Amino acid sequence: MSARFEFDNTYARELEGFYVPSQAAVVPQPKLLSLNRGLAEELCLDPDVLGSDRGVAVFAGNESPAGASPLAQAYAGHQFGGFVPRLGDGRALLLGEVIDRNGKRRDIQLKGSGRTPFSRGGDGKATVGPVLREFLVSEAMHTLGIPTTRALAAVSTGEQVLREGLLPGAVLTRVAASHLRVGTFQFFAARGETDKVKQLADYSIARHYPELGDADNPYLGFLAAVRDAQAALIAGWMHVGFVHGVMNTDNMTISGETIDYGPCAFIDTYEPEAVFSSIDRGGRYAYGQQPLIARWNLGRLAETLLPLIDADEARAIQLAGDAVNDFVDHYLAYWLDGMRAKLGLAVSEDEDLELANGFLAALEGQNADYTLAFRRLSDAARGDDAPLRALLSDASAYDLWADRWRKRLSHESASGEARAQAMDRVNPIYIPRNHKVEEALTVAAGSQLLDPFETLLEVLENPFDEKEGLEAYSSPAPASFGRYRTFCGT
Ligand code: AMP
Ligand code: MG
Repeated sequence: MSARFEFDNTYARELEGFYVPSQAAVVPQPKLLSLNRGLAEELCLDPDVLGSDRGVAVFAGNESPAGASPLAQAYAGHQFGGFVPRLGDGRALLLGEVIDRNGKRRDIQLKGSGRTPFSRGGDGKATVGPVLREFLVSEAMHTLGIPTTRALAAVSTGEQVLREGLLPGAVLTRVAASHLRVGTFQFFAARGETDKVKQLADYSIARHYPELGDADNPYLGFLAAVRDAQAALIAGWMHVGFVHGVMNTDNMTISGETIDYGPCAFIDTYEPEAVFSSIDRGGRYAYGQQPLIARWNLGRLAETLLPLIDADEARAIQLAGDAVNDFVDHYLAYWLDGMRAKLGLAVSEDEDLELANGFLAALEGQNADYTLAFRRLSDAARGDDAPLRALLSDASAYDLWADRWRKRLSHESASGEARAQAMDRVNPIYIPRNHKVEEALTVAAGSQLLDPFETLLEVLENPFDEKEGLEAYSSPAPASFGRYRTFCGT
């Protein structure tokens, strides 16, 4: 374990012209809100050193750690469908890269560390609520088994930040496989800088998909690899009922990790139209839209790669178009694999897609909690339908479906108990429920009390093991919580 970051900064070294060097703002009174000790160890860092005053000064941006090359990355992006040629890190700084104990390269980034040349009219700051929300939800996604950026530390700054009122300032230290986005490619493609797009693609391949290095057409292979990573990612979101809320192309990673937990939320009842973000008025990023949007975003990446895929433009369009269209099949395959496990099926049969859709159809409009419905399905696998039926306002569609499901289960040899246990390993009992997240953030931002945040974080560390006494964390929001609205928490 090391007392300092052992930086090895390939982005800064190899991609000059793709960023602007920058410095974090100095803040008056840094205070540690949360430190992810497990992740620190994974990064070969000594958590006690990170939690000391020196460590906190680094997380606040007040001290630049030795070997860092702080920079703001350039990127563009389609935001709600409209292209913005220049976005970039307006409130984030990449400190550098470290190699973790598994040999994987990870970015260390400060988010909320002050203005950069990409800040436009913004102040470059972040506030306690959104910082802790990203901390909680990204860590929850990780324990749920979904690829995601991670949270290493959150500090408050002692500063007041002007939003809808004055709010306490904070900085998040984020860890990612990289911060390369679809929008990074768009930035250079939109300027007609094909050589730069090629340089970026070569860098991305070497960093994330090195097996493509000597493929016949590495750039087409790259597009397909990103497609598969994103298809798997979105399937994971759909399985747990996650709504990202702002799937702009600048928020879609090349690595296939979930990034930017702004207005995200989890669905309560199963509703494809579910939208939580106050700015998503048209429902572009609704729960059920996410696979389609991911394919659309992939199309935007494909456009940037056309000149690299083939010198003959028509042929490039054909090849890239086929790769993008294949997203649907790949997504469906990942989705169905996961749904089989959620429904207790171990082998695959032709009727499974219909069976999976049938369960969702039986939930729709029945006011049943999505997460609990899957969890109660393991009781049904043990032979007791009552807990699941009790969740549904009208169980008749479920009863019909359950007959088909039991027939299908009879094709497999697992005992009810073994099947139920396998289901409980993929259907979480604890997710970051919107009302619990909100409660934790409100208390933290208001009275600076971190107890609800810490308890929730701890509960979410083991999302699949039901524990006595934690009913408040598995129960749906009380009716008084009302319809959840999130704000693009900047
Ligand atoms: P996001 O909503 O985090 O995906 O950010 C979209 C774009 O807005 C990025 O270019 C951010 O850097 C920029 N941005 C968001 N909030 C701020 C802020 N407070 N100050 C400066 N730039 C910001
Ligand atoms: Mg973003």
